[in-house]
Amino acid sequence: MNKLDYCYHTHTYRCGHASGEDEDYVKSAIKIGIKRFGFSDHAMLPGIKQVHSRGDYSLLDDYLASTHHLKEKYKDTIAIKVGLEAEYSERFIDYYKDLLSSKAIDFLILGQHFNFDKSDNPKYIKNFRDDIEELYSYADYLIRGMRSGLFKYVAHPDLFVTMFKKWNKDCEIVSKMICEEAVKNHIPLEINIHAKKYWKDGYERLIYPCEEFWKIAGEYQVEVVAGYDAHHPSEFDNDIDFVFELIEKYQLNHLEDYTI
Ligand SMILES: [Zn+2]
Ligand SMILES: [Zn+2]
Repeated sequence: MNKLDYCYHTHTYRCGHASGEDEDYVKSAIKIGIKRFGFSDHAMLPGIKQVHSRGDYSLLDDYLASTHHLKEKYKDTIAIKVGLEAEYSERFIDYYKDLLSSKAIDFLILGQHFNFDKSDNPKYIKNFRDDIEELYSYADYLIRGMRSGLFKYVAHPDLFVTMFKKWNKDCEIVSKMICEEAVKNHIPLEINIHAKKYWKDGYERLIYPCEEFWKIAGEYQVEVVAGYDAHHPSEFDNDIDFVFELIEKYQLNHLEDYTI
């Protein structure tokens, strides 16, 4: 059965590029049979303003209030956890630890879209073109994040392919670095559903999930999860055969009962 009954990668309108009501995401997920669900909006970060990439820090309390409310309201129907999708950077470690230890959030997933060690308003990784130095920098931060123990899994670990038009030797090296660390740290890697389905017109770079990456992930037998990365409630549908084809083709170790 080509269905997922869990999804821990769900955004809200607060990030500035998603839309719909929080409750409608939950209702849509229930409708397609999801039993274990997580909100993981792009982390609001103190002192950082990235208008169309993440919600302002001032929206954090509202996000937490709304998602915790839904967690309670739907507790007999679906197990909801409250989380954030966040970048690794040493400057945010204490902030993340506080959010987790105070139980404001239940979990973090690692989505390394930006490198905040370089700037308060860094360029999105996918906007670096053919930049090998940036590729290795991405891998370095991703690996530090994996080693930090702060994150439950790595969202779209193959995001870096969007820097390139063609797969190359460096892509292969970096993929192996990431997969090796995933195995060492027992941290699952996510097959991301959003990009391939919704970034359609004229996208002329490689896109994720990237076959070459997942072939390597199969060889390393990394633990694999899938995530809708929903930016609208309607993105929860069962038209996701490509995920299961990838799992089948590369004999990926999919954690079907994945639970946070
Ligand atoms: Zn997003
Ligand atoms: Zn996401």
